[in-house]
Amino acid sequence: MNHPNQLNFDTIIVGAGSAGCLLANRLSKDPNHRVLLIEAGGEDDWFWIKIPIGYLFTIANPRTDWCFKTEPEPGLNGRSINYPRGRVLGGSSSINGMLYMRGQSGDYDHWAKVTGDNTWNWQNALSIHKSIENYFDGENEWHGSKGEIRVEEPRVKWKILDAWQQAASEQEIPTIPEFNRGDNFGCAYFHMNQKKGVRWSMADAFLHPIRNRKNLTLMTKTQVLKVLTKNISDTTRNQSRYQTKAWANSKHEVYGLEILKQNSKKIVTANNEVILSAGSVSSPHLLQISGIGSSSHLKSIGVDPICDLKGVGENLQDHLQIRSVYKVSNCRTVNTLYKNFITRIGMALQYAIFRSGPLTMPPSTLCAFAKSDQSQVSANIEWHVQPLSLPKFGEDLHPYNAITPSVCNLRPTSRGWIRAASPDPMEYPKIFCNYLSTEEDLKVAVSGLKKTREIMNSKALAKFTPKEELPGDHIQSDNDLTNAARNLGTTIFHPVGTCAMGKIDSNGKAENELTVLDSNCRVRGISRLRVVDASSMPTITSGNTNAPTMAIAETVAREILSNS
Ligand SMILES: Cc1cc2nc3c(=O)[nH]c(=O)nc-3n(C[C@H](O)[C@H](O)[C@H](O)COP(=O)(O)OP(=O)(O)OC[C@H]3O[C@@H](n4cnc5c(N)ncnc54)[C@H](O)[C@@H]3O)c2cc1C
Repeated sequence: MNHPNQLNFDTIIVGAGSAGCLLANRLSKDPNHRVLLIEAGGEDDWFWIKIPIGYLFTIANPRTDWCFKTEPEPGLNGRSINYPRGRVLGGSSSINGMLYMRGQSGDYDHWAKVTGDNTWNWQNALSIHKSIENYFDGENEWHGSKGEIRVEEPRVKWKILDAWQQAASEQEIPTIPEFNRGDNFGCAYFHMNQKKGVRWSMADAFLHPIRNRKNLTLMTKTQVLKVLTKNISDTTRNQSRYQTKAWANSKHEVYGLEILKQNSKKIVTANNEVILSAGSVSSPHLLQISGIGSSSHLKSIGVDPICDLKGVGENLQDHLQIRSVYKVSNCRTVNTLYKNFITRIGMALQYAIFRSGPLTMPPSTLCAFAKSDQSQVSANIEWHVQPLSLPKFGEDLHPYNAITPSVCNLRPTSRGWIRAASPDPMEYPKIFCNYLSTEEDLKVAVSGLKKTREIMNSKALAKFTPKEELPGDHIQSDNDLTNAARNLGTTIFHPVGTCAMGKIDSNGKAENELTVLDSNCRVRGISRLRVVDASSMPTITSGNTNAPTMAIAETVAREILSNS
């Protein structure tokens, strides 16, 4: 394997996104362990990344976003939608909504059940969340203060959202002090990943503080093109690090990666492991173009299969948000504050001097969780309420005062996929979310829209004279509401599950054929390769997905360190 441009490390991590930044931090703690972290995007020093309201400019911008698009979705009346993913240090945590949400206890207990590994249960997950958290109000039963992930309260409140919270309580969704205690039922302002009014991305938390470690090499603007594998000899297979259920019967192991940096291809090699943390779209894509995936799909696109793993890229789950828009009066919203030159300057000054005001705002400010119907075991719908409205992210705000109470189904039963379109690593994979493809999901969507109306029609909001712009008063029957959900639905940016963990027996056989990883995120049948990111989740959490991704990364980092 001699190559003029070869570079050798102990561990290589692909993707300096949410999970990759944490892994780089933990695995490079030992100065003798040489870690390479590779990121396709550039530095995260653009001011719109740091100023919270900058998501309006970083999403759908090729400077910071991969700008993927889905295939036409029949469930969305044939629309193809934008599918943002961060392409910059910090990955999606540099362009996301900064909302800090761990999910429900049942989500983690379910992971423990489907992986057969109690490491993932809620009690353990809670202790992991606390250990990596730096909570604004200090340590308590639910929060930690010594970790790296800064969690703060919002720095701006809105009259109209306070009233929305009261309206929700009229509809038996109680006002609660905060989420993240395992249940989440109720209504509260979101907590956020910010520090003193500035975005606190996972690069800020885990990468920047340790960037100068001599044993950590960071390559930015470097795209990984292929995972390189070779056959394993019997003698090699007998080494202890291969003796895991996932790797014991592997015929192949990973030895490195082909990368593209400044238009030049290079090979980098890893003595221990390669870890893919390229996210739910790019991790399965990289596996597929490297010959790891469904053999029939790989052959159909001209890739020679190395390992037949049917689940790679399958099992895609995402939260579909259905965005109602209500015109309001007798209050201000971001729309008109931003459109008016004087108030826009005022907001900028408020931010510059006090680090407060609307510029510190995550897109969604108020949140509520409830059941779409009483048969649900726990809250299965979430509202993200925004004191603004726009046709879609990346487009201009509406010129009138309005709010967007967007509702999403937290446990969708629809499943989609990510599939490489060709062996060319530069060609984007096909993304098909298959939204609203089950009766159950359609039922929840219609119920979510009806419940939104019930809240909007509550007494507490009457003085703001809300007028439903979308879907519109004329939409009344369940059929019409279903169609409205198909027209209004869009991603709330939570793709997961495309390289799912699952249960594996002592022969390396999976209980579920879509299982890609064991419960420590090792790729089944390919030694020395792991996938550690949002794609590793077996099922989507009942809430936003950044914090759960961090819990996965921390849990696996500990496992790797305990065995090194
Ligand atoms: C617009 C948006 C808003 C969101 N809002 C929230 C929110 O408010 N709260 C919340 O909890 N979650 C939110 N999420 C989701 C959350 O941010 C993600 O679940 C989480 O960041 C996923 O982390 P990850 O490590 O799996 O992937 P990412 O953070 O996306 O990291 C993947 C990294 O890999 C790099 N990469 C990919 N391919 C290659 C390659 N071939 N070579 C080199 N590098 C590569 C990418 O550039 C990227 O930096 C949002 C996401 C988006 C996009």
